[in-house]
Amino acid sequence: MTEKVKVVACPTCGEDVAWRPENTWRPFCSERCKLIDLGEWASEKYKVPVAEPGAFDDLERRG
Ligand SMILES: [Zn+2]
Repeated sequence: MTEKVKVVACPTCGEDVAWRPENTWRPFCSERCKLIDLGEWASEKYKVPVAEPGAFDDLERRG
């Protein structure tokens, strides 16, 4: 009896990952790859200017 397990490629390193409920890090192969991916996603946000300098000062004066 062979269980059919879906296998996906880890988005970070491309390693084969068995899609099982006990695989906490799916679709990643490991916690490391998940953290790397999350880190890249977070760093994308830093590239986008959130507010212009002085915007918070302005809000405080009005508030
Ligand atoms: Zn990986």
